[in-house]
Amino acid sequence: MFDAVIVGAGFAGLYMLHRLRGLGLTARVYEAGKGVGGTWYWNRYPGARCDVESMDYSYSFSDELQQEWRWSERYSAQPEILRYANHVADRFDLRKDIHFETRVTSAVFEEATARWAVETDQGDRATARFCIMATGCLSDAQIPDLKGLDSFAGKWYHTGKWPHEGVDFTGRRVGVIGTGSSAIQSIPLIAKQASHLYVFQRTPNFSMPAQNAPLDPEYERRVKESYADFRRQARESRVGFVTERSGDSALAVPAEEREREYEKRWRRGGLGFSAAYTDLLISKEANDTAARFFREKIRAIVRDSAVADLLCPQSYPLGTKRLCVDTGYYDTFNRDNVTLVDVRKTAIEAITSKGVRVDGVEYAVDDLVFATGFDAMTGALLNIDIRGRGSRKLSAEWAGGPRTYLGLTVEGFPNLFMITGPGSPSVLSNMIVSIEQHVDWIADCVSHLRERGLGTIEATAAAQEAWVQHVNEVGHMTLYPLAPSWYMGANIPGKPRVFMPYIGGVGVYRQKCDEVAAKGYEGFALGR
Ligand SMILES: Cc1cc2nc3c(=O)[nH]c(=O)nc-3n(C[C@H](O)[C@H](O)[C@H](O)COP(=O)(O)OP(=O)(O)OC[C@H]3O[C@@H](n4cnc5c(N)ncnc54)[C@H](O)[C@@H]3O)c2cc1C
Repeated sequence: MFDAVIVGAGFAGLYMLHRLRGLGLTARVYEAGKGVGGTWYWNRYPGARCDVESMDYSYSFSDELQQEWRWSERYSAQPEILRYANHVADRFDLRKDIHFETRVTSAVFEEATARWAVETDQGDRATARFCIMATGCLSDAQIPDLKGLDSFAGKWYHTGKWPHEGVDFTGRRVGVIGTGSSAIQSIPLIAKQASHLYVFQRTPNFSMPAQNAPLDPEYERRVKESYADFRRQARESRVGFVTERSGDSALAVPAEEREREYEKRWRRGGLGFSAAYTDLLISKEANDTAARFFREKIRAIVRDSAVADLLCPQSYPLGTKRLCVDTGYYDTFNRDNVTLVDVRKTAIEAITSKGVRVDGVEYAVDDLVFATGFDAMTGALLNIDIRGRGSRKLSAEWAGGPRTYLGLTVEGFPNLFMITGPGSPSVLSNMIVSIEQHVDWIADCVSHLRERGLGTIEATAAAQEAWVQHVNEVGHMTLYPLAPSWYMGANIPGKPRVFMPYIGGVGVYRQKCDEVAAKGYEGFALGR
């Protein structure tokens, strides 16, 4: 019997364990992988790196840690981020409470004892007062249901489950299916190795140049000198990192000035482009000015105009599918050994023993890479048989889309917490900032209960309903719902189309959570 069971040992699970230990509580962590790091443990594909700058995409909870750790690049690559996660696990002596290679299969709330009973695929059974899901928003890798995959004679991989020993594509014919963020990062590197690369694209994405570089020591020094203030600004910001925000509408400034602003941001690289004007994600007309700028950039880079046309997103507003960040992505299509295959008009018919068949043409490949993403935000949670009061199943409660209070809790599921769950800023933010905020809120909540001798906390139906409506209202004030994105569940056949993250802003959201706590956990029923 533990005070808490934590599922997952990515950045969320590691910090949660550290906080609970600090409160003198006992916790057991279960992790499906062989090591810590979550996303950075699994996604070892070529080119995997963060697209939030490393000085921002790192923990703030320990000043010694943030002062001593040195990032080598503006955007760190996966191996370095994984080293960091391992360093944190060692430095805070976290491993001893983590059971690796153990997948949680069910979590059931036992009403008589007000305890969660958690079971794993290794036959473990643990009970705990609190059950904390740190299962990750992008951890349930998806392979599309394509006819004939079983018959494929070559090797195939998913970017989110990449072999630890790496893959050498030298001299091989490779097919990459998908053109989202992972594809955009890996395609330029795979193209350099492969004898020929076929990229199967259904929906083109907007991608910004990373302008990655070794971390500027002068910048590092300045940030470290004022790290507390730097972090405070990030926590109060809209997206969890500070970016230059204009207070203007894109339509209120002359066209030349707008172009200059877009050009400046393009040269600076990275995310933050959508902050150029206040209405880029609210007004289609304003958004069109930025989308046009992007398309012109793509056409200026890609020499073959037919290929450039295919690479230009036309069917959704810029930024409403996750903006990607790349190094040399568009230029890769100028290589003789790269072919872009449009699978929008005619979908992939089948995988054959030799390759991929589209519109009657077979593209012969030795290896296939699925860069087809994740069942985002709800997939990893719903893979677990989670049952609350009266054996209510979370999967049934969420049949029409996820319903939460604050993205942290669910009515009918006492003492169950989700870190960066649906209904919180989550994937629309610098996730380490959001993870730390959720972990701290949960730890404070657990302390509050303990100090008052309370045993349970549970969202009320009314508070949950009001929060779901608020998340929806705010989401629908923006252009986001116009895109068939994974934010909307649109990449998974049959998944309800609901805009899952909370777009009200990281700072605003934090305030709301803090107010709820300050008012004695308003919207929750607390029990003995
Ligand atoms: C390629 C890629 C790049 C990204 N880049 C950025 C970025 O630049 N900036 C940013 O803010 N975010 C980025 N993200 C999002 C990233 O997921 C988060 O930043 C962060 O790493 C999430 O940490 P986490 O601990 O919440 O989840 P994860 O890192 O996903 O960890 C969850 C862990 O839970 C485990 N787990 C799940 N279910 C079970 C179960 N039933 N039993 C046992 N274990 C289980 C998984 O194995 C996994 O290890 C990226 C995501 C991907 C996939």
